[in-house]
Amino acid sequence: MRKQQGDTVASAFVAEQLKKKPSVRGLHRLIELNLERSRSEARENLLVLKELTSRLLANRPAYKCRQCGFNAKSLHWQCPGCKTWNSLKPIQSMEGEPST
Ligand SMILES: [Zn+2]
Repeated sequence: MRKQQGDTVASAFVAEQLKKKPSVRGLHRLIELNLERSRSEARENLLVLKELTSRLLANRPAYKCRQCGFNAKSLHWQCPGCKTWNSLKPIQSMEGEPST
């Protein structure tokens, strides 16, 4: 059996974390938590938001070149943009943790 109180506390915690450190991943989590408690129209809107954050998380570039700023979804040994070797590093940004 699911505890309503637990969801409310979890949701408030995630919301608090989001204020301190905004991230798409945190937003995604908050939407998921609220989705479980929502009904009808609110639920429909949350489903749209969740779809959006899912896409943001899936489409984001994971690596960026230190030399030219080239964005890549996968790690290249040589930058496709400026041809510098070993210049791509994981991105730490709005989306939260760097992708591994
Ligand atoms: Zn480059």
